Amino acid sequence: MEATLLQSLAEKYGSPLYVYDSAKIISQYERITNAFSGVKNLKVHFATKALSNINILRLFQSLDSGLDTVSIQEVLTGLEAGFAAEDIIYTPNGVSLEEIEKVAQMGVKINIDNLSILEQFGHHYPNIPVCVRINPHIMAGGNTKISVGHIDSKFGISIHQVPHILRIVENTNMIINGVHMHTGSDILDISVFSSAADLLFDVAKDFKDLEFIDLGSGFKVPYYEGAAATDIEELGKVLTKRFNKFCKSYGKDLTLMFEPGKFLVSEAGKFLAKVNVVKQTTSMVFAGVDSGFNHLARPMMYDAYHHISNVSNPNGKERYYSVVGYICETDTFGVNRKINEISEGDILSFDNAGAYCFSMASNYNSRFKPAEVLIHNGTDQLIRKRETMEDILKNQVVIDL
Ligand SMILES: *Cc1c(COP(=O)(O)O)cnc(C)c1O
Repeated sequence: MEATLLQSLAEKYGSPLYVYDSAKIISQYERITNAFSGVKNLKVHFATKALSNINILRLFQSLDSGLDTVSIQEVLTGLEAGFAAEDIIYTPNGVSLEEIEKVAQMGVKINIDNLSILEQFGHHYPNIPVCVRINPHIMAGGNTKISVGHIDSKFGISIHQVPHILRIVENTNMIINGVHMHTGSDILDISVFSSAADLLFDVAKDFKDLEFIDLGSGFKVPYYEGAAATDIEELGKVLTKRFNKFCKSYGKDLTLMFEPGKFLVSEAGKFLAKVNVVKQTTSMVFAGVDSGFNHLARPMMYDAYHHISNVSNPNGKERYYSVVGYICETDTFGVNRKINEISEGDILSFDNAGAYCFSMASNYNSRFKPAEVLIHNGTDQLIRKRETMEDILKNQVVIDL
């Protein structure tokens, strides 16, 4: 997305603003399907939590993607967006049996990640097939908060407990239709994927009613120029061979599933904020914008790097800035960044704002959540209005004092 376009969108819709480019989402989706074109049955489920605007979900639906969901609310949004229930997989962690039952009644694929719920579910609903989430204990992930595969992780059923799963299956007569793993976010090394996949294939051979194997996600996307990223084409080559070999020995063409979030939408999004103040201190220059970690939490929450550029002055002299937000506590987007000279009123653009950005936004400091715009077929369209005071006060109950 060109600087001039982003500048004009900020003028048209106001700031702060999220902008998504459907062409980039579509090309990432096609990259993954092309990389695995040698697999007979492939299904990509977009991880809803990365970017849950209903229009984004509708876009994925039109591409024949499925959805990966982690809450009943995400399931309901997916159904509202037009997904068939069987194209949605529900992979919750630590939710109640009641919620799982409700989602199961809708016909959504259920992925269970602990023995207690598995046993209870199997006891009550032996005829509803479920997938099991296995934790292969492959260490991976860029940040401890998003690394989910280690031995003491709360995610999945330990690969060492597979005999216990098999005992539950035998006792309840339940049907296991899939095995799943999701080893974490930001995995770089494709050998991590393939060795984890091998572990999962080894588990899979003991389940007789499988329809699919879900290898989760964690694909790394570049957050700055030259940054390392998962080589999806190479991964496709390596895994296609192993998966097809597994299917042959299993005696059935299973479906290979993935559930990427970041890979599909991270690079398609830009976040635009306006510079309210340029402030010099003894040692640095701050650019303070009309937003904060209430709208883009990843830098403060995960130490994530988001490249920042000045779309109002793309050819200006480069200087060093610390870009900060307006929240009344430490609220830093980037320290000591080289950015084209910033004047008050300029629009800054933050890269990689498609995944886990708007979807993690809050109303902290009683600020409105930003508007969202989708560029699709060459036109920009508002897909979420900026909030108003009504939204801030909506569910507050005024009592007699
Ligand atoms: C969050 C999540 C994903 C998506 O992870 P990305 O790193 O965004 O690709 C996939 N599967 C499950 C179960 C998740 O919780």
